Amino acid sequence: MKRTENADMREYTSFRAGGRADLLLVPDTEEELREALAEAEKRGDMLILGNGSDTLFRDGGFRGTVIMPGEGFSRISVNGCRIEAGASALLSQTAKTAQEASLTGLEPLSGIPGSIGGAVFMNAGAYGGEMKDVLESVTALSKETGEIRVIPAESLDMSYRHSVFTDTGDIVLSAVFRLEPGDSEEISEKMRDFTERRNSRQPLQYPSAGSFFKRPEGYFAGKLIQDAGLKGLTVGGAQVSEKHSGFIINTGDANASDIISLMHLVQNTVYDRSGVMLEPEVRIVGEEQ
Ligand SMILES: Cc1cc2nc3c(=O)[nH]c(=O)nc-3n(C[C@H](O)[C@H](O)[C@H](O)COP(=O)(O)OP(=O)(O)OC[C@H]3O[C@@H](n4cnc5c(N)ncnc54)[C@H](O)[C@@H]3O)c2cc1C
Repeated sequence: MKRTENADMREYTSFRAGGRADLLLVPDTEEELREALAEAEKRGDMLILGNGSDTLFRDGGFRGTVIMPGEGFSRISVNGCRIEAGASALLSQTAKTAQEASLTGLEPLSGIPGSIGGAVFMNAGAYGGEMKDVLESVTALSKETGEIRVIPAESLDMSYRHSVFTDTGDIVLSAVFRLEPGDSEEISEKMRDFTERRNSRQPLQYPSAGSFFKRPEGYFAGKLIQDAGLKGLTVGGAQVSEKHSGFIINTGDANASDIISLMHLVQNTVYDRSGVMLEPEVRIVGEEQ
């Protein structure tokens, strides 16, 4: 099992900012995962990390163990209209496998840069589709009992950017998607279209965690931020994107504290102007410096 002491979490998160974790473990089998959990228990806090595209480590770092399911958890297999994908498989790769197998349903999610584990945890969604629309079941390991269970989608309590895992902290090992037969060319075309929309509207050349805030009921976070005159607002190396006000970007040398200060500034200004308190979608973890 790969282990790194004092791991620089900038390398493992899409914001490319933040501090170090005491220990990073990358298990490739269930047995190694259990060993990693046992070791983590002795060393303080524990966090499971997927592709790091919705997580920001504060600059003081993480006092404990980060466990990142490795390559061994990235298997994707097709069985009729079902696709099973391991926790560390990327959503994009899973969608590509579905397209090659002429299975439709994953296209709207194909451009989300997350792992299956992170996407299940967050109930990731885009362009009118959400994980919960296509998930049939999830295999998970209970943090408390060590038991492995197959949980049907109906019992995953999935709602906007929420799943049962947000509450339990249990570990997603794999997920089964139930898709529909389709035409592989048409699926490809839809995926291309969604990619183009992302490329034209999102500041993808900068490190970020996508839309920083959750969508408040009845509003769009980006519009509230723009209407409050905050487009382009900068704190240190962090900026409210000029291209998409819902994104906070790292313009090069942002600390996590720049990003978090900018987040507070945006929250307070938007609240004063519109009475809406924006809630971060990004998971902010670790210690202040
Ligand atoms: C450019 C860009 C565009 C984006 N666009 C979208 C979008 O359109 N829609 C959208 O919903 N999101 C979007 N995101 C955010 C992000 O990609 C999603 O939330 C994604 O699902 C996170 O997956 P991850 O593996 O990177 O999660 P991570 O950041 O690694 O983790 C997120 C959370 O999931 C938990 N977690 C991770 N793996 C597991 C596991 N195996 N078991 C249990 N818990 C786990 C972590 O503990 C953490 O709390 C975007 C991000 C970027 C950078």
